[in-house]
Amino acid sequence: MVDDKLAGTCSVCLRTMQLHGDSPIRHGFSAVGVRHGQHSGYHTGPCQGTRFPHLGISAEGTKWALDNARERLTAVEIELARLAGNPDLTWYPDTFVRGRPMRDPTRPVKLRYGEDVAYAGDGRPTYAWEHKRQVTRQEDIKKELERAIDTYEKVIVTWSPEKYPTTGAAKKVEITHMATPRKSSRGEEWTGVLCRFTKKGYASDKIVKTDDPSKVTCKKCRKDLGLPPL
Ligand SMILES: [Zn+2]
Ligand SMILES: [Zn+2]
Repeated sequence: MVDDKLAGTCSVCLRTMQLHGDSPIRHGFSAVGVRHGQHSGYHTGPCQGTRFPHLGISAEGTKWALDNARERLTAVEIELARLAGNPDLTWYPDTFVRGRPMRDPTRPVKLRYGEDVAYAGDGRPTYAWEHKRQVTRQEDIKKELERAIDTYEKVIVTWSPEKYPTTGAAKKVEITHMATPRKSSRGEEWTGVLCRFTKKGYASDKIVKTDDPSKVTCKKCRKDLGLPPL
């Protein structure tokens, strides 16, 4: 994180992210409520938090993420129930792409409960092995979603904008000039600044200025006053 960039909390992955306007900049999703390296890695790709204001503004994105996680959890529970019935499973042999094993989607193998084929010659696992692998994967995803739901619910219940302040904005330093009385040839009087001529009105009025030379921060005003630079 670069220090002078404005950062806020992403309402979907709950991480501190650089902001672009009110929303986080594009970033990858990372599991919620889980330490890095512990998640199942099923939920990848861009984080949807870019579609919502950061948490210092609203919890709208967190509500969306909670609903989304609940829907996914329902789908996982349906899949676990389906697996419990020992359905036919599809397994794919490995193919090597640039030296790396990848599953070959062109050669699906159907594995049937109670009908293991010994020595099929394609490296297929037993039904029980593949079944356990698929169940374990769904259970890992289930745990991850339950942790995320728990975290989102807490965030929503305890949410306040003050809990999620933005950080790192470069502080805008207002320059203070030396107030200087001005008078036009027609006799109009106003207060300008020492370092340059500003006309009567808004331009002169909005400039930050002081009558106290010790409070002047403008380089040129200080020079004109004979003060050392800050
Ligand atoms: Zn995010
Ligand atoms: Zn000045």
